[in-house]
Amino acid sequence: MMSKTHIAVGVASALAIAHTGSVGSFVAAVVGGSIGGIIADCDITPSRAHKDALIGRLLVVGIAVVALALDYYYSAGVCDFIVGNLGMRTIMGVALFTALTFVGGHTDHRTFTHSLVAMAAFCGAIYLICQPLLPYFAIGYASHLVLDITNHQSIRLFWPARIEASLGLCRAKGTVNSIMLVVGLVACVLLAAYRLAPLASSAVGAF
Ligand SMILES: [Zn+2]
Repeated sequence: MMSKTHIAVGVASALAIAHTGSVGSFVAAVVGGSIGGIIADCDITPSRAHKDALIGRLLVVGIAVVALALDYYYSAGVCDFIVGNLGMRTIMGVALFTALTFVGGHTDHRTFTHSLVAMAAFCGAIYLICQPLLPYFAIGYASHLVLDITNHQSIRLFWPARIEASLGLCRAKGTVNSIMLVVGLVACVLLAAYRLAPLASSAVGAF
């Protein structure tokens, strides 16, 4: 599937398990779900031929910056957690995350990074960097693998085993991708409204 679809479905999946009425949980879901939704495609080098990879990465950076600014403004907890827990553990997490993306960038598309082994390793890195993001990152990553496994082009889900996993239902750039993008975006809007509704009503009630 294409980057925007992975991001939309990743965030929607994360919002589905987020807590209602918590800005911190909302921010963690948006940041974790968007990064988890797209990180498996770090095995694509952005170029003229792969503009989608570049657009996806810029989108995720933009989404994460806006969400973390919201968190900072409302003192919702994610920024405070990261700053309050800075230390050797964070350095190890960032080093592991960087190493995994580096290795991923030097492997063939849909192999190592599209495996359960890589998903577990990336989740370990996120656990060390910012534990509250972990469940949202994990479900975003899982949504990526589920979407890609529906394609004709297989993924190496059980890497290093040479088992090709594919349901062969659709193409990565076809109609199903467009449908999933719309479904993901609509789900994001509805779930965001549902998760944040109690905050809006309590704010109204305060005046
Ligand atoms: Zn992929």
